[in-house]
Amino acid sequence: MVPKLTGRVLYKDDPGWDDARKNFNQRFDVQPRAIVYCQDDGDVVNALRWARENNVPFRARSGRHSYEGYSLVDSGLIIDVSELDHVRVNRDAGVAEIGAGSYMLQCAEQLGDVGVTTPLATGPTVGLAGLALGGGFGLTSRKFGLTCDNVLAVDLVTASGEVVRADAASHPDLFWACRGGGGGNFGIATQFTLRVHPVSAVLGFIIQWDWKQFDQVVAQWQAWAPAVTDGLSAALQLTVNKTIKLYGMYTPDDPSSVHAGAGQLAPLLQAVTPSSPPTIQPLPFIIAARMFFGEGGHTVDPAAPQWAVHVHSDQQIYKSTSAAVMAPLPGDAIALLRSFLENPPPLGATPVQVSMIQLLPGGGAPSRVPPDATAVYLRDALFIIQYDGYWMRPQDADPTIAWVERMRSTMQPYTRGAYVNYVDSCLTDPLRAYYGPNLERLVRVKRQYDPQNVFNFPQSIPLHVP
Ligand SMILES: Cc1cc2nc3c(=O)[nH]c(=O)nc-3n(C[C@H](O)[C@H](O)[C@H](O)COP(=O)(O)OP(=O)(O)OC[C@H]3O[C@@H](n4cnc5c(N)ncnc54)[C@H](O)[C@@H]3O)c2cc1C
Repeated sequence: MVPKLTGRVLYKDDPGWDDARKNFNQRFDVQPRAIVYCQDDGDVVNALRWARENNVPFRARSGRHSYEGYSLVDSGLIIDVSELDHVRVNRDAGVAEIGAGSYMLQCAEQLGDVGVTTPLATGPTVGLAGLALGGGFGLTSRKFGLTCDNVLAVDLVTASGEVVRADAASHPDLFWACRGGGGGNFGIATQFTLRVHPVSAVLGFIIQWDWKQFDQVVAQWQAWAPAVTDGLSAALQLTVNKTIKLYGMYTPDDPSSVHAGAGQLAPLLQAVTPSSPPTIQPLPFIIAARMFFGEGGHTVDPAAPQWAVHVHSDQQIYKSTSAAVMAPLPGDAIALLRSFLENPPPLGATPVQVSMIQLLPGGGAPSRVPPDATAVYLRDALFIIQYDGYWMRPQDADPTIAWVERMRSTMQPYTRGAYVNYVDSCLTDPLRAYYGPNLERLVRVKRQYDPQNVFNFPQSIPLHVP
């Protein structure tokens, strides 16, 4: 029988088409042939069969946050799982079943309602599928591990149209690959079973320094942030507006010891005196999570549905990339970072978001997982550098992209690899950068589960090591 598309199917002339085809990053103007919003596994199976039968290219899509728009394809079918968004928690067992299309704010709220969480990204509308399949970290990762370290099972529709549950006992190779190498590569995830952790009070903080303290702050931060107690996650945001901001939270084992987080911050604050009194405040976890979802200019209305709250997507245009830092940056490398931020390309219009470099701390629980236990190999990084360039006018695109690319390549002598969830089309050897020594095993899993390379996009896992 010829397969039919089932679920909520949208075509070019349907109302809402233009919103439906947008990525969070407005850099991409893609015209798919159709978008199917799957309502259950059967819709995913039908969509995949339809695409294969009709020889139509397709992409899986969850939260639409791929930095390079890899969840979109011109003239193809978008298999969208965003309406598979249930959150079912068994608090006693410490486990939740979450639809692959759930987004961060929704996960945080619904898990928070029963007093638990799992490591989530700080972008409020990032999708669970993209996050967890590529690794995933957030402000509780140093304590609880990467998102993928908390995945107990993934339900997927494979290339053959079979619905499988991959876990430690069943399809273990696929399970391994889907924890760090799974985005768009092996099948379409429909649900994750995740470990969840009790959480209540946390200590939130935002601390600022003067630009003239840049070199000292970065030097002290990199010696401190990756080594502090697991409960503390402190990211450093350095912007072209010459602001230095440390933000994060301390998640204690026991809520009554939440104030101990201030003692953990003390060595950094004593080493470099902040420019204004630090904001350090005990907060219910969910309030802190909402606050950090709003960090960086996002505006979020927790009462509204996903795409209605996505106001920050309307004008966001950017290029981002990343690298891992394995040893403390020497003084000249820190000075290079400062110099790039002091000399951004001139822009003809003020972007929604200011261009920046973010330093995201490593160490903690993720660093104690062996580099070959999942597809994520950069486990012993001191920190991840994220380079973000934003603009508004089309003519500012090329200079800003070139500036981001120059930062990444100039810093390369001091860095290693790249984080696959910050996909970057400019990388010359992207697969080795994302997967390091795990690439060979990922290719073997690819041959086993997708021998015809049905799941392919510009940086997908190929059938042979390049
Ligand atoms: C504003 C912002 C904040 C971010 N913050 C963080 C952060 O704090 N921590 C962090 O780790 N990362 C963060 N990221 C990066 C984010 O993890 C990745 O962009 C991730 O891939 C997004 O997933 P998505 O589902 O939203 O995107 P999508 O664009 O929908 O998908 C991303 C990739 O996954 C594939 N995919 C989507 N759904 C499925 C599925 N069901 N089955 C198989 N493959 C699928 C797509 O084909 C695509 O290749 C952030 C990104 C942005 C833009």
